[in-house]
Amino acid sequence: MPRAADIDRPRLAPPDTVVEIARVLTRAGFETWCVGGAVRDALLGETHLDWDFATAATPADVRRLFRRTVPVGIEFGTVGVLDAKNVMHEVTTFRRDVKTDGRHAVVEFGVSLDDDLARRDFTINAMAYDPLGGTLRDPFDGRADLAARLVRAVGDPDARMREDRLRALRAIRFAARFGFDIETRTWRAVLDAAPFTTRLSRERVKQEIEKTMQQVRFAGRAMGLWRESGALAAVVPALADLSDVTLRSLDLLPPPRNDAKPDREMQRIVALVADLAPRDAERAMRDLRFSNKTVAWVGSVLRGWTAIGDDVRRALSEPKGPTDAALRRWAGTTGRTRARAVWRLTAVRFAAERELGEPAPSAAAVASAYHRAIRIAFRDPVEIGDLAVDGDDLLSAGVPAGPEIKRMLERLLDDVLEDPARNTRDALLARVASLGDRG
Ligand code: ATP
Ligand code: MG
Repeated sequence: MPRAADIDRPRLAPPDTVVEIARVLTRAGFETWCVGGAVRDALLGETHLDWDFATAATPADVRRLFRRTVPVGIEFGTVGVLDAKNVMHEVTTFRRDVKTDGRHAVVEFGVSLDDDLARRDFTINAMAYDPLGGTLRDPFDGRADLAARLVRAVGDPDARMREDRLRALRAIRFAARFGFDIETRTWRAVLDAAPFTTRLSRERVKQEIEKTMQQVRFAGRAMGLWRESGALAAVVPALADLSDVTLRSLDLLPPPRNDAKPDREMQRIVALVADLAPRDAERAMRDLRFSNKTVAWVGSVLRGWTAIGDDVRRALSEPKGPTDAALRRWAGTTGRTRARAVWRLTAVRFAAERELGEPAPSAAAVASAYHRAIRIAFRDPVEIGDLAVDGDDLLSAGVPAGPEIKRMLERLLDDVLEDPARNTRDALLARVASLGDRG
């Protein structure tokens, strides 16, 4: 019979670049193991590029042994080592938490691998693999929990959540990410920890939300558990009553690919706060320390959607669908650069409503309008800047300086949105003259 540790050896085989790091440390006399997410993911059959290590070597040893290192967290014993392919791996000295107050940890070095594994959050994250000897160290039966598809705290769940309340949110993220259940006692500890997540730093909460949006295929399930556990009410009070439509929409939106453009990257964040008025969404995001740029983008997309959403719903529910002029008007209202993001949000909200049995425009109607809307937004004049005349032209044509200029430009845009053929210099100046005559 094969030894248990041999069964998953092919799956566990880390890339050569990773084995090399372990070899260097081991040859120098330091016990070294692959730990954490990469071991878990490998056993699940998923690829994970940045394998992390736990080692008996100190940060000083590690920096001495490798040419290219990054001091990512020396005080916690962590040095980043760049492998031959420029991928960074965290190499951390075996450590144990000696004191925790739910936020910060004081760590002690010079302990054993098993002590190091014991301070980890969940059994599936507390396995170690020796890539040279091919043995798996699994003192908390993480493999059994992987097979049973369970997220289970290492040791006493209540104590572990008290040490660090972030673990409540992490339990939810891992469960949603892998489609696992949360083991009963662990879930009860999550519920007990939820009210105390208010004490977590905003940055850690924000990072947890971002990781959820980036990693979790069914992010709606994760945020549903945030809502159900009470953690959402604690950390983002504005979202306490997150709607089922929003949760469903998050499940329908895939996570952004690694090379996604910024607006794609943000679309799940937009969807997450879409129940809120734009102003409230901006405030909630600012509270979470999202960057000014992200806050501004999300706010402007929601503003666009708030402005056109009802009209879109009405027009798409009619058999003949929206006119080209309506699509131009909506593009003008949202702004051309936000048109795609607003339509994506619109489409996914309608899809979520349909799935929940609520009345919403059909998938076919939405797809066709979306397609036309984007083509038109990038083909036709939809903004004042697209007009064949500008403010100076109007001044020369005798329009008085001041607010009258802007009003006239808006009036001209109105005509052009109706019929883009009117967007020539001559036609617009003639129109200015006739409007002027009528006074
Ligand atoms: P991911 O794919 O999200 O990076 P991961 O398991 O690698 O998943 P990290 O946050 O990178 O998660 O942490 C690496 C490892 O460190 C975890 O697998 C776990 O063993 C341990 N760990 C991280 N955060 C905590 C925590 N708050 N409490 C206890 N252990 C933790
Ligand atoms: Mg990781």
